[in-house]
Amino acid sequence: MTTRHWHGGELRWDHLGGEWCVLAPGRATAGAAGCPFCPGPAQDTPPETWRLPAPDGGSWRVRAVQNRYALSDQHEVIIESPWHDWDLAVGTDDEVAAVLRAWQERHRALRHDAAQVVLFRSHGPAAGATLSHPHSQAVGLPVLSAASRRELVAMREHYDRSGRPFAAEILAGELSSGERIVLAEGRTVAFVPFAPASEFEIRIVSARHRADFSAIPGEELGSIAHALRLVLAALRTELSDPSYNLILHTAPVGLEHVPYLTWSLRVVPQLAIPSGLELATGIPVVTTTPEEAAKRLRNRLP
Ligand SMILES: [Zn+2]
Repeated sequence: MTTRHWHGGELRWDHLGGEWCVLAPGRATAGAAGCPFCPGPAQDTPPETWRLPAPDGGSWRVRAVQNRYALSDQHEVIIESPWHDWDLAVGTDDEVAAVLRAWQERHRALRHDAAQVVLFRSHGPAAGATLSHPHSQAVGLPVLSAASRRELVAMREHYDRSGRPFAAEILAGELSSGERIVLAEGRTVAFVPFAPASEFEIRIVSARHRADFSAIPGEELGSIAHALRLVLAALRTELSDPSYNLILHTAPVGLEHVPYLTWSLRVVPQLAIPSGLELATGIPVVTTTPEEAAKRLRNRLP
C-alpha cells in the first residue's frame, strides 16, 4: 500500500486502477449558512493569499484565500468577484480576464512546491459546487496523476514522430473541417472535440502553441477571456444554465518550456448521471453528436 502525506493532506495509490486517490475527510460538510465569499463586516474567510485590487480604489476585484475545506494546505479558493450573482457567462471581457489572471498568478505561486497545479471551476450542483458565489480552485499536488502522465507521454511521442505539437494537428484538422468549431476569433478557437468526454464538451485553445498557461501575455489572455465568456454564455442559453466543470490543462511543473505540450481550457457540462456502461468501462456515452452540439452553440453566439 502506497501513501503520500503532503502539506497536511493524504493521497493513496490505487494499485489496480493505476491512479491516485485523494482523501478529503470533512469536505462534504462545506456550505454552511451565509456566504463566506461576499465582502462585508461579517466576512470570515480564511487568510488571503493574493488580491487584484478594484480599479476604482474599492477593496478587491478578485482574491485568493486558503480553502477552509482543503485537501492540503496547498489548496486555495479564487473568489472571482465581490458580487454574489456574478458569473463568467455574464461578466465583461475585463472581468473574465481578471479571473484568468488570478489563475496564472496562483499557478505560479503554488508550483514552487508541487508536481502539478490544477485549476478548475465547478458551476452548479451537478458539478460539485457547494457554494453559489462565483469561485474557482487552485490545488497543488505532490504527484502527477496517471491520466496527466499518459497524456504527456502521448504528446511527447507524437512530437518526436511528427515534429509538431499534437494540439497543432488537432486544431488544423478542426479548422479545415469546421463542423465542430464553435468560435474562431484571431488565434483563439473553441470547438467540440471529435470524441468528447461528455455531452457538449468544449475545448478552448490558441493557435499560438504554448505549454504554460501562466506565461500567456495580457493581450492574448484578453482574447481567451472573450472567447470563454461567449461560449459559456452560449452554453448557458442553449442548455438553461447547466452545471459544468471548467478545467485548465497546462504544463506540469518543470515542463513549462517543452515544445510538445499545449495548454487548453475544457468546459465539461454535467448533464446526466453516468450510465452503467460508463461506470463499468470508463467509456463516455453522449446522445448529442459533437457536430450537432457545435452547431447549436454557434447559433447561440451574438
Ligand atoms: Zn456571496
